[in-house]
Amino acid sequence: MTSQSIHQDLHEALLYERQSDQSVICTACKMYCRIKPGRIGICGVRVNQGGRLYSLVYGKASAVHIDPVEKKPLYHFLPGSEIFSLGTVGCNFGCSFCQNWNISQVTRDLRKKLGKEKRLGDIELEMTGLGYALPPEKIVDICKDRDIPAIAFTYNEPVIFFDYLYDTARLAHASGIRSVFVSNGYESEEAMALMHPFLAAMNIDLKSFSERFYTRLCKAKLQPVLDTIRHIHQLGIWLEITTLVIPGQNDSDDELSRIADFIASVSIDIPWHVSAFYPGYQMKDKHPTPPATLIRAYEAGKRAGLKFIYTGNIIDDQRSCTYCPNCGEALIRRSGYRTETTAISRDGMCIKCHEKIAGIWN
Ligand code: SF4
Repeated sequence: MTSQSIHQDLHEALLYERQSDQSVICTACKMYCRIKPGRIGICGVRVNQGGRLYSLVYGKASAVHIDPVEKKPLYHFLPGSEIFSLGTVGCNFGCSFCQNWNISQVTRDLRKKLGKEKRLGDIELEMTGLGYALPPEKIVDICKDRDIPAIAFTYNEPVIFFDYLYDTARLAHASGIRSVFVSNGYESEEAMALMHPFLAAMNIDLKSFSERFYTRLCKAKLQPVLDTIRHIHQLGIWLEITTLVIPGQNDSDDELSRIADFIASVSIDIPWHVSAFYPGYQMKDKHPTPPATLIRAYEAGKRAGLKFIYTGNIIDDQRSCTYCPNCGEALIRRSGYRTETTAISRDGMCIKCHEKIAGIWN
């Protein structure tokens, strides 16, 4: 493929501001990169060509699976259903413990390899190998054919491929198919203003309550994530939160309590998933999270007053069950990704005491 034909494949991005010096400010995420002509944003997939911003990953999927919705994890959103899951390459974060680093961090590694002095065409040429054509229409057709009720933009941070997912979500919405983000919480308000009519649910990672953790291990900041969580809740999008608990990094009682207290200050109805870490990527030297640590996190959530806390990435049927916060009845039992709705009505009521359970149930 020639460099010229690659340029023709690029898709002009939504969400950027042109500047008088031909640089652009990308407004898709809270990094708000200022990108000079011929350069690329932190995520490695949004590029300035001639004073305009283009996406390198429009219509290019790098990871596609049909998953149980519980795998996202979303426990209060259409339980037991399948969800079409899609990601591209690239990410705005650089987490050293990333579980999907082979797709999320590949553009960062590529940017390092090519160096600042190499031509943009070199980056585009390398990008052509990172993903395959999967246009929005095809995704929606697959969901319709297989009766899949929702699409998750997941595996890497969705907002960096905003243009691709926005077209997909609007088409899906017109066919009654819902859209979901699994996100690091760096969406800009500009992105959410466009997206929120088409977005049914989000799972946001709250990775730590320490600024130092976010700076050192994620190449990002804590406060923007906290702001996004409050904003998403205010927008009325169904929200669940996940914390990957890493031994020695974010597992102190104090930090777990601060995370739980923050979530409770937004809403005690927000489910909190505390997940086990397994060594990988740049954290191969750490140990997996002991079950006892997740139980400490679970107890911190209880003390904060959260109604729904779940342990994840380990087998713990007791703490992955949804209990009625009013009468204690087991409403939804889970074992691995097997889900059994035992005592909840189709519209989300406890069958025993008629307590309304927060979530999207049908
Ligand atoms: S989406 Fe990418 S280019 Fe845009 S602000 Fe975020 S990191 Fe920068």
